[in-house]
Amino acid sequence: RTKGFQRGSYTLFTREMGVEIRERSLLMQHLHKAFDAERLYLMYQPQIELSTRKVVGFEALLRWRTDEGKMISPTEFIPLAEHSGLIISLGAWVLRTSCFTMRQLLDDGYQLDRMGVNVSAIQFRQADFMQLVSNALRDSGLEPHYLELEITESVTMNGAADFEETLDKLKSIGVQIAIDDFGTGFSSLSYLDKLPVDRLKIDRAFVNQIDHQGGPRIAELITQLGKKLGLKVIAEGIETQAHYEALQAMHCDEGQGFLIARPMLESAIASWMTEWK
Ligand code: C2E
Ligand code: MG
Ligand code: MG
Ligand code: MG
Repeated sequence: RTKGFQRGSYTLFTREMGVEIRERSLLMQHLHKAFDAERLYLMYQPQIELSTRKVVGFEALLRWRTDEGKMISPTEFIPLAEHSGLIISLGAWVLRTSCFTMRQLLDDGYQLDRMGVNVSAIQFRQADFMQLVSNALRDSGLEPHYLELEITESVTMNGAADFEETLDKLKSIGVQIAIDDFGTGFSSLSYLDKLPVDRLKIDRAFVNQIDHQGGPRIAELITQLGKKLGLKVIAEGIETQAHYEALQAMHCDEGQGFLIARPMLESAIASWMTEWK
């Protein structure tokens, strides 16, 4: 926040901040209550192989509907949950629930490769994170390779030594790792080359750019980088046929987005799968 340093705007800045802090703490209280009252739930968005249109997996995405029926975006409440520490128990719940859902989908006979679960930097840095993951896998009966943890570049940057240790341990039990929103952070390429990562996720900002001036350049660069590093590449935010075709033309492996399907409740997966086939 550099706004407060602008000359003449200082008073305005502090007053705005006061309101913002009050609103935030109110929202935080609501969030804690919502978790207790089970107003938080997961939706699942399909991921497909672009060349064959085969469904390869799902990404679990958290949702919050307030008592008044208002939807609050995870981009708004995840930072709050991180700030208050709620992300620890919330994240643990997300992990467990996603593993159980995936186990159920496999038991129902769907041939899928993975369930993607978003993990925040704070969660990842917890000393017992590894234990949390193995417990979720053990309790749900899900084989580790079916779980893919999505971490952002910020996780890779400030974790240093113990971050690599956790990553190595996860890899050693077979859990898959994806770098989410790739290209929006600042990971060093030499570092990335050393990390035991399976997949790069092209941020939807770059998929969206396909329609604009400069076109698919960044998406294509990321795809080529991924190939060079021997990683799979998945694009998020595919909204149009033009996005799909452009990504396919650059040999991006997989994708997800509204063109294919919006995130859905677990109960809606079966009929969507039938329809998709
Ligand atoms: P993300 O992991 O990059 O997830 C992709 C976001 O793009 C999701 O937003 C998804 O609904 C949205 N999306 C997918 N396809 C399209 C499309 O075609 N067009 C558009 N416009 N959007 C699309 P969502 O669900 O609002 O989540 C936002 C972010 O919140 C996620 O970004 C992730 O960073 C975070 N998040 C969500 N659930 C969790 C969670 O359980 N734990 C943590 N730590 N973070 C979460
Ligand atoms: Mg994600
Ligand atoms: Mg993403
Ligand atoms: Mg994203």
